[in-house]
Amino acid sequence: MVRVSTGTLSVLGLRKSRTEVRPTTAYLMVGRRCMMDCSFCPQARNSEAQANLLSRVTWPESEPGITAERIASRYRTGDLKRACIQVVKERESRAASREMVKKLRSLSDIPCCLSVDVEDLKELAEVFKWGVDRIGLPLDAASARVYRRCKGGSWHRKWHLLQEAARLYPGRVSTHLIVGLGESEEEMVRTIGALVEMGVRVGLFAFTPVRGTAWEDRPQPPLDSYRRIQAGHFLLAHGHQGLGGFQFENGRLVSFGLKPDKLAHLLGTGEAFQTTGCPDCNRPYYNESPRGPIYNYPRPLTGEEVAEALRVLLVGTRF
Ligand code: SF4
Repeated sequence: MVRVSTGTLSVLGLRKSRTEVRPTTAYLMVGRRCMMDCSFCPQARNSEAQANLLSRVTWPESEPGITAERIASRYRTGDLKRACIQVVKERESRAASREMVKKLRSLSDIPCCLSVDVEDLKELAEVFKWGVDRIGLPLDAASARVYRRCKGGSWHRKWHLLQEAARLYPGRVSTHLIVGLGESEEEMVRTIGALVEMGVRVGLFAFTPVRGTAWEDRPQPPLDSYRRIQAGHFLLAHGHQGLGGFQFENGRLVSFGLKPDKLAHLLGTGEAFQTTGCPDCNRPYYNESPRGPIYNYPRPLTGEEVAEALRVLLVGTRF
């Protein structure tokens, strides 16, 4: 069995859904109960959260053959543009993920990415051989200090692996960063800047407390802080500003180093506030209820939404 996000099931016609925005990527998860013990994750070894959760999304089980066929058919109609497999770190999940990638690739040429915790470059090369076009090596935490606290182990080791992966497979590596794990805005923006320079695409997430996890009582990050980080990411990723142009004060991003009209022009499309990560990954309502507040917009923003995002962002920003 493979687990499939409820939004994806609705695109596949296997479940009814009333949500306004559908995923443009098919999200699958392979494996149950991880060997790791991340404080924020429902799949963590000691988590008491429902086993079918990842963030606030439920992932019911589905039959792999039917799932792959439906994904291929929705790819042909243009409803889906990518498939993403989240590999939970446990003994059986690697082989099951390989089978799922093979099934998907035998039915269509849908781009596939795998979000997986590999140990070294040899494992990475092996996974690329399965036929995936991209690999996501999730860093989650923006600094070694935060990583130690919520994941355990060596951030520097993961960082080095990401660096090597980006060098060996240019344009084919992504990572995840979660805002709100205890980092400062400066730590987050500097890490994003270094990743962008390495050619790694960054999927930004907002920490989301889930009942039964170690950090179930921790709040989500303040929206204004998240908006500043999204704007920083957008400006860096599109080459509109370099890290040296930003100013920080006590860990807070206080200036983007751009004139007000230039900043308003660059951010005025609202793209900065949409979901980021691999191409065509929109992750609807992964971090938030459709009722809001919306951290990552899974679709283009309305004029009112852009105006509100800019209003929130500009409070306390210097020019
Ligand atoms: S950025 Fe999106 S498509 Fe890429 S690995 Fe993360 S969830 Fe999957």
